[in-house]
Amino acid sequence: MNIQNYINGEFINPTSNAWLDNYNPANGEVYGQIPNSSKADVEHAYQSAKSAFPIWSKTTLDERSRILIKISELIEANIDRLAEAESKDNGKPISMSKAVDIPRSASNFRFFGNAITQFASESHESVGQNAINYTLRQPIGVVGCISPWNLPLYLFTWKIAPAIASGNCVVAKPSEITPMTAYLLGEICNEVGLPKGVLNIVHGLGTTTGQAIVEHPNIKAISFTGGTATGAHIAKVASPMFKKLSLELGGKNPNIIFADCDYEDMLKTTVRSSFANQGQICLCGSRIFVEASIYEKFKTDFVEKVKQLKVGHPSEDTTDIGALVSKSHLEKVKSYIEIAKFENENILCGGNEVKVEGFENGYYLEPTVIEVDSNDCRVNQEEIFGPVVTLMPFNTEDEVLEMANSVKYGLSATLWTNNLKRTMRMSQEIQAGIVWVNTWMMRDLRTPFGGVKASGVGREGGFEALRFFTEAKNVCVNSPT
Ligand code: NAD
Repeated sequence: MNIQNYINGEFINPTSNAWLDNYNPANGEVYGQIPNSSKADVEHAYQSAKSAFPIWSKTTLDERSRILIKISELIEANIDRLAEAESKDNGKPISMSKAVDIPRSASNFRFFGNAITQFASESHESVGQNAINYTLRQPIGVVGCISPWNLPLYLFTWKIAPAIASGNCVVAKPSEITPMTAYLLGEICNEVGLPKGVLNIVHGLGTTTGQAIVEHPNIKAISFTGGTATGAHIAKVASPMFKKLSLELGGKNPNIIFADCDYEDMLKTTVRSSFANQGQICLCGSRIFVEASIYEKFKTDFVEKVKQLKVGHPSEDTTDIGALVSKSHLEKVKSYIEIAKFENENILCGGNEVKVEGFENGYYLEPTVIEVDSNDCRVNQEEIFGPVVTLMPFNTEDEVLEMANSVKYGLSATLWTNNLKRTMRMSQEIQAGIVWVNTWMMRDLRTPFGGVKASGVGREGGFEALRFFTEAKNVCVNSPT
């Protein structure tokens, strides 16, 4: 499928008429072309957003809310078409796009459509000064949203929904690797009557199209999700212009298992938290630490379960592990398996490419478990972002805490224990933006979402997102007696 930019409510070609090939990771074939947008296209999108802003920012909350909720309903009504497009573009099992990606994209619009009607400013009397202070929460203007390929529509809408709910107009860029569902979202926005120019979608490479959004002097805020190196680069470009930045970056999340946990529940969830979406979720628990007394049992049971996972074509309902997103990503993940071998780590299962019958040129890899003997090895320290986890025993709470915190990232952590005191202690000490206890990736959209250290700056979700996409203005009204 060939796609176009979505600017001012219209689908148009890039001004330079330059195009990029889009690959289907399940078979390695080119199946469409996408715009390779230039600075001129970003400028066009900006001008369209700027023109729409005066009216959209004054549109009543009820009306904005109504439109967001209609978008959410139309995403739900189109679930099959969107799920198919997402799975084909990304290589993820269709069962996951249907159960997770597309429903969550709809929830993002519904949630922020409702939340904006509850997002009230504060006011208080300044006692002794006879003044009333109140806070205006005003939209910023034109904002930029840039998203990655791993959860394409889910993360794209996680930014766009709060941005437009709070009265901004948007120039957005999905990943050039997975642009299809963002394109289809444009069609949905037109169908529900989102005013022209409120959302503009430009497709293209990060280093050109994305960079042009970040460099644009009048795009006042950037909400970015992607790699840590890209986030650091964006911060460098944007900060001299004093742009507001939200950066959701990489992770290398610990999954810490104590002997007193509910074992079966933990085992089932750990398989999921290791390999869901081919391990390409920033929240995947890619470092598994197991208390020594149950380490051998866990190792046997876990490896047995992992070996049962079916690697297959994403469109098959029985597939557990689909294709990795691109040839270059497959090569990157494989290079870490080579590093593990070089470092003499013990590959307990997996490690090889899979040739799925009829789709031999697809990017498939066995789910891989690596037993490591040192916390400092590269596969335990660097983000691999694929179906590869490391496994290591620990003896004490202090020891595992130190290992868990020893990486540069701090996105999420999972704890498996029924000990309440330990839960409270460790949740306080773990360096992460999110700590799950006896669960993984249970999301409540009201909660703050984001990371510490090299995992990012700022929080998304709930009112945090609405705060990010608005400027707070204090108004102090003096009323002399
Ligand atoms: P990436 O950084 O390569 O790209 C992300 C987006 O940024 C893409 O749209 C890309 O085109 C764009 N981009 C690249 N260079 C740019 C530049 N110079 N200026 C502006 N935009 C630019 O990341 P990716 O490979 O698409 O995604 C994988 C990474 O994303 C992983 O590190 C993963 O952990 C992270 N991630 C984080 C979260 C989170 O919430 N913290 C969620 C999902 C993924």
